[in-house]
Amino acid sequence: MNSRILQQLSQDSYTLVRRIGEAADDQGVSVYLVGGVVRDLFLKRDNLDLDFVVEGNAIIFARKAAGILKAPIKVYKDFGTAAVVLNDGRALDFATARAETYAAPGCLPQVRRGSIHEDLFRRDFTVNAMALGINHSRWGQLVDPFDGLKDLRAKTIRVLHQRSFDDDATRILRAIRFEQRFGFRIKPQTLKLLKRRLARRTGDHVSAQRFFNEFRKILMEEKVLPALKRMKQLRAEKLLHPGFVLDLKILKTVQSRFDAVKKKYDLSNDYRWKIFLTAVLEGQADRVIAEFPRSLSLTAHDCKIFAQANSAIDFLSRLCKNSLSPSGVYGVLKPLAPEQCIYLLCRASRAQALRRLDRFLKKDQFVVLAIDGNDVKVLGATGAKIGEVLKETLDRKIDTGLKSKSQEISFVRGLLNV
Ligand code: ATP
Ligand code: MG
Repeated sequence: MNSRILQQLSQDSYTLVRRIGEAADDQGVSVYLVGGVVRDLFLKRDNLDLDFVVEGNAIIFARKAAGILKAPIKVYKDFGTAAVVLNDGRALDFATARAETYAAPGCLPQVRRGSIHEDLFRRDFTVNAMALGINHSRWGQLVDPFDGLKDLRAKTIRVLHQRSFDDDATRILRAIRFEQRFGFRIKPQTLKLLKRRLARRTGDHVSAQRFFNEFRKILMEEKVLPALKRMKQLRAEKLLHPGFVLDLKILKTVQSRFDAVKKKYDLSNDYRWKIFLTAVLEGQADRVIAEFPRSLSLTAHDCKIFAQANSAIDFLSRLCKNSLSPSGVYGVLKPLAPEQCIYLLCRASRAQALRRLDRFLKKDQFVVLAIDGNDVKVLGATGAKIGEVLKETLDRKIDTGLKSKSQEISFVRGLLNV
């Protein structure tokens, strides 16, 4: 019955998988489609990520596949994996089938080459531990040693063995993410193991970065609020920082606005996790906000956004002052990163603040002067006065519009009485 399942791939993906299957036959290696894409085929959900496991050397095989597809390849020697990058930016991932053993809970595993069954055994949940053969003789045959398909139909998330969360506690966040994304339920026995792991706060070698990587995936989910609610219910946010407290009220407001704001201002997808992380951080104690990003590799730009998460209310109250002119708004908002302005849009409740943010984002933030310091100097200003004059001219341009360079110069003349 399963030989038809691969036909549900998009036309593009189907052709690719066929060609890779043929290459596998040519090379005499067994290759399988694995993980998320297999799960999503059975769920009838689109998934553009094609992950392959090779029983053999994945890097050698990926080089062949890249040659056939005439596409460049990125090799990750240390991991025995390679990605073939297609024209449209999609990557096909190839991994050598491997078996993993954990020397101590939470440590990165020791890895050796293995069979597809062993490779599936190292995975997180039964629904993610299925593979489909793509060699001619096994085309579309399901490898499902842990009854993932049964769990999928029963809408349950289940770990493969008792020690799964001890081996890798990031799976706690993954369980929550998949449960909420698909509207599944974490199975009672799995939930018991998950809670047991959460209750035990010691012996944890998992890096903050690895927890954060999984948390960021939660923040990228469409149904971010239910996932965060579930985290709060289980107190799983403590994995990110022991002092974390999730404020669902702030998150609810941001969630209710974000999609409309994203559409209106045509924002890239990267905004999603940054806006929701800011919302998560806004409710935290100052000490937590200061400590949280320290052990993560974030850019200086992002660190600044998150460090100021608690200032949103201050910025909004400054924006709501009745006497504020457009140049005053510019003064408040210009020092902020674009993500912070977007965050304020998601947080503002007063129409006046929303209007002011909108005007700044659409128009005033782009205003620049036609004159520069030299033009001001020529008219007799020196030292700090030059900067002051330029600032006043810019404010005037924002507030009433100076339409040309000569209007700017006349304005400067007026200021300097020349
Ligand atoms: P998504 O649709 O969100 O990408 P996915 O199932 O593809 O879901 P990924 O995070 O892309 O999830 O991981 C790919 C596969 O790798 C998973 O399906 C799972 O089999 C395996 N995997 C990822 N992280 C872990 C982990 N921490 N422990 C065990 N297996 C994992
Ligand atoms: Mg994936």
